[in-house]
Amino acid sequence: MILQHNHQSNSAPIAVTMADASAPVAKTMVYCQVCSYPPEYCEFGSRFKACKKWLQDSEPELFTHLYSDDALSAAASTLSLEAREKLAKEQAKKEAKAEAKAERLEAKKSRTKVTIKRVERNKRKHITSIQGLEHFGIDLKKAAKLFANKFATGASVSKTAAGVDEIVVQGDVSEEVEDVILEKFKEVPEDNIELTEDKPKKKAPKEVAPQPGT
Ligand SMILES: [Zn+2]
Repeated sequence: MILQHNHQSNSAPIAVTMADASAPVAKTMVYCQVCSYPPEYCEFGSRFKACKKWLQDSEPELFTHLYSDDALSAAASTLSLEAREKLAKEQAKKEAKAEAKAERLEAKKSRTKVTIKRVERNKRKHITSIQGLEHFGIDLKKAAKLFANKFATGASVSKTAAGVDEIVVQGDVSEEVEDVILEKFKEVPEDNIELTEDKPKKKAPKEVAPQPGT
């Protein structure tokens, strides 16, 4: 005789057997602070190395469960060799790209200079040229106005022959300009400010040139 199970209850207990009894049971959902995915999915993000480091530091048990050498070789053995190689290659590519991008941003930031140049227009007249403030999100017209007010002199925004934006302040106020930038535009690091000097080409310094002997 066959006993039939008639009732359609959903409350029948479901036995869950875990292959790995030591697996920690997460009480609260953990999200990776690097890529924001749940740690199981970090490998699909582009910063897997950084993710793993974060996980190892802040969720060591979960890290062991997911990414210890044992866990990884167990997971990898279910994939074909080709699939594993492909995954590893893609992963390396993604990581290299993300690293390169981060490096480029860093490098660009440290390379971006604000130059303050003292320019001798003729024997007595100097101007001060300031370039690069716009890279720090500074409005050049407002900055020119600020310099004009501070030094009670003329200041304007123009373009150099090479098409670079610059603020031209009348007079030799290079050092004062640097002080004002450091005081008013804190977003410009002091290390990124360069003071230079531009003397006119010495083509005919008649007054001082020694007379060629006749
Ligand atoms: Zn992650």
